Amino acid sequence: MDKRTSDKPLDVAIAGAGIAGAALGVALKQTLGGAFSVAVFDPSLGRAPARDDRVVAIAGGAKRLFEAIGVWERMSEVQPIRAMEITDSKLHDAVRQTYLEFEEDEESEPFAHMVENRALIEALREAAEEAELELIASGIEDYSADESFAHFGAGGSRYRARLLAAADGAQSKLRALAKIQTIARGYDQSGIVATIGHAREHNGKAIQHFLPSGSFAILPLTGKRSSIVWTEGSAEARRIVALPPNEFLAELELRFGLQLGELEVLSPARAYPLQISIARSFIAERLALVGDAAHVIHPLAGQGLNMGLRDVAALAECIADNARLGLDPGDSQVLSRYQRWRRADTVAMGLATDSLNRLFSNESTALKYLRDLGLGLVDRAPGLKKFFAREAAGLTGDVPKLLRGEFI
Ligand SMILES: Cc1cc2nc3c(=O)[nH]c(=O)nc-3n(C[C@H](O)[C@H](O)[C@H](O)COP(=O)(O)OP(=O)(O)OC[C@H]3O[C@@H](n4cnc5c(N)ncnc54)[C@H](O)[C@@H]3O)c2cc1C
Repeated sequence: MDKRTSDKPLDVAIAGAGIAGAALGVALKQTLGGAFSVAVFDPSLGRAPARDDRVVAIAGGAKRLFEAIGVWERMSEVQPIRAMEITDSKLHDAVRQTYLEFEEDEESEPFAHMVENRALIEALREAAEEAELELIASGIEDYSADESFAHFGAGGSRYRARLLAAADGAQSKLRALAKIQTIARGYDQSGIVATIGHAREHNGKAIQHFLPSGSFAILPLTGKRSSIVWTEGSAEARRIVALPPNEFLAELELRFGLQLGELEVLSPARAYPLQISIARSFIAERLALVGDAAHVIHPLAGQGLNMGLRDVAALAECIADNARLGLDPGDSQVLSRYQRWRRADTVAMGLATDSLNRLFSNESTALKYLRDLGLGLVDRAPGLKKFFAREAAGLTGDVPKLLRGEFI
């Protein structure tokens, strides 16, 4: 018998120390304190962090969650997005006409903040150590459940927990072990990500060019740097990332434009295959799916992780409400409440990004006319613009407390 089976079982075990899993662990430990046992399992905890040049646009709600759990203050390199511009054009158009512009007004907060994934993971790991979260450098290998516990193995030991939260990413092993199906479709598109240096200041402006092959986003980072998320058909994306540096730069300049002066590629470009995938259920016995394990969406609206953090805030609140009353943190009421709270919202966002991608990633002149009319109407209606900005910040609907900056 291993030490945990003979010892007290865990209250909550988390598979995955990515941003979603680590944030859930820190939120639970900080809220429920030392007597509430939480452990995070991830084979990557034992390795040096893999190179990750991805950046993420953290919306207002997610920022408040990180503030509430003491992670935001640990981040030094944070770039607010103060303005956004959306254009719709063909690749070789001489001028990219702007259809929609958002400017930060004096009372409002920035639309989002750009942070680098690895900086966020480092800040979360520091907070996890400070909160004395148990970090175990092994992957979870199997799962079964009975009325009282989830049972699983990791690193040659057996464990049991009242609740197992699967934050083990898009290819979630736990989702497969729990036999939860997904509704999934590959886009045959890939998102090329790279960090770009430029001669001029970006002044905190994010630009989204909708081009026939997909969206091309320029997202401001600290200093005279921006990150690009450049969507292309998958074969074309593979060709582009394999180009010699001068030819890559030429393709980049064609899309990026010259508004920020001379460009320099600061990180190797990587292509991520894109898909939509939503789990048919977010729960199984003693198990909850969180983050990319529950849903993966097109990155064109920068909402994938923000949705994962909504899961984190909702699940932490459901668990804490029960645990404070001395009730079981993984019983079926906690799980059903979590599923009701998160699944419909996720399906709605998944469908919205899917429709936007279909609407914009094509050459049809009739569709271009319709979408430009739509963008123009939104641009001239301040109420609608405010609505979209609040929606993107994750501040509409039934917002979990942590996303409102309140303690749970
Ligand atoms: C090109 C691109 C751009 C994006 N831009 C944005 C953006 O601007 N805004 C936004 O909100 N989102 C964005 N996203 C989405 C965002 O990157 C993901 O939603 C987010 O990284 C998922 O985090 P996660 O913690 O759920 O999963 P992951 O980061 O995949 O973490 C999963 C963890 O689980 C571990 N693991 C795997 N198997 C096991 C196991 N059996 N046991 C234990 N641990 C295990 C892994 O080692 C890993 O550490 C983008 C995505 C792409 C592809």
